[in-house]
Amino acid sequence: MYDVIIVGARCAGAATALLLARQGVRVLLVDRATFPSDTVSTHLLHPAGVARLRDWGLLDSLLATGCPPIEAISFQPTEDFVLRGAPYAYDGVTMSLAPRRTVLDALLVEAAGAAGVEVREGASLQRVVWEEGRVVGAEFRDGGGVFEERAALVVGADGRRSSVAREVGAEVVRDAGNFGCQFYGYWAGLPDEGAQLFVGGGQAVLAFPTHHGNHLVLVGWPHARFAEVKQDIDHHFLAAVAERAPTVRERLTEDARAGRIAGSGDLSNYIRASSGPGWVLVGDAAMAKDAVTAQGIGDAFAQAQSLADRLPAALGAGPAAVDAALTEHGAERDRAGAVAFETTVAFAMGGSSGELLPLLRAIKGRPDLVSMFYGIYAGRVTMDELVAAAA
Ligand SMILES: Cc1cc2nc3c(=O)[nH]c(=O)nc-3n(C[C@H](O)[C@H](O)[C@H](O)COP(=O)(O)OP(=O)(O)OC[C@H]3O[C@@H](n4cnc5c(N)ncnc54)[C@H](O)[C@@H]3O)c2cc1C
Repeated sequence: MYDVIIVGARCAGAATALLLARQGVRVLLVDRATFPSDTVSTHLLHPAGVARLRDWGLLDSLLATGCPPIEAISFQPTEDFVLRGAPYAYDGVTMSLAPRRTVLDALLVEAAGAAGVEVREGASLQRVVWEEGRVVGAEFRDGGGVFEERAALVVGADGRRSSVAREVGAEVVRDAGNFGCQFYGYWAGLPDEGAQLFVGGGQAVLAFPTHHGNHLVLVGWPHARFAEVKQDIDHHFLAAVAERAPTVRERLTEDARAGRIAGSGDLSNYIRASSGPGWVLVGDAAMAKDAVTAQGIGDAFAQAQSLADRLPAALGAGPAAVDAALTEHGAERDRAGAVAFETTVAFAMGGSSGELLPLLRAIKGRPDLVSMFYGIYAGRVTMDELVAAAA
């Protein structure tokens, strides 16, 4: 018997497991993947997410893997205008990071194991187990067959297509639509100029440094172009980079390329019910947003912390106390995530970056306001707050 079973062992699940186990909670963490394992996701982490890793004692280990700090950002909506600045600082942290998921997720799983979590990889959730209207466990299948485990709480940290959400019938309480698609690849030899954003003309190109001396280069399009782009990804990708970011395109030679271009057309924006009797969802299973603002990993960390702040005391006090803690957690999730969700949907729906130009021209040369602009991407500042500060 465990206190908590967590399905999904990446940034939401492994972080939740780690934080609970450090408080003495008996946790089983299960994933069908085996780590290190990649996933379809780019991996920019804003300073708030970096601050969580620092607070959890994992930042130094991550930096030691050769993850380059990102301390400068540039935003280029037209050929002749560049807004240069720094990430929007959070709790003393001024850098962003872009760790490969093969590295970040494995680091979290390893830290969870070191904290006493029982980690089972290569095991897939088959169904949750109910008793008298309450989830009391879960059944899994691995190479050895089917096994069942019991716990006071089952956590669904199993991503957008969450099996836990499906099994418990977690309702989608907000469906804000699917507006974008993104494709990305890795190249060596780009100069380190921090994170570079080239946005306009119905496409966005981003480049930022990551592990192994590589840069991640990404192109985002409206979802309406997904089917066409998929027909010949390399061609459309390189053409978009050539059009929006010619200096980056020059560097994207075949010799410098590390792997194939990957991507996704499922960037839907939704919020699911947070919890019910004996279950709770965290990370993308609970709330997912278009990747345009790169907030999913940081949000998963924030939800892990919120749950870990409320759950351990309740676990010893019985089901009613657990349900009350989960309700509190859900309220915090909605309160903390509201601005970021609405801002992301607004960005994802498009609108011309040209409309922003007068504001960007007004804040150019004012580092605090430029960082506030990047704070909008990080979900920490609203456009109204920036406009008011710039007035
Ligand atoms: C193209 C793209 C680009 C993105 N770029 C960024 C970015 O730059 N920055 C950012 O912060 N976010 C980005 N995101 C979002 C980010 O990837 C997610 O928010 C984040 O991965 C959510 O983490 P998670 O732990 O909730 O779920 P996931 O990372 O989806 O992990 C879920 C885990 O659950 C496991 N699982 C699923 N079903 C089962 C089952 N039945 N049994 C056992 N295990 C199961 C899976 O194997 C997986 O390991 C991007 C997403 C996409 C698609």
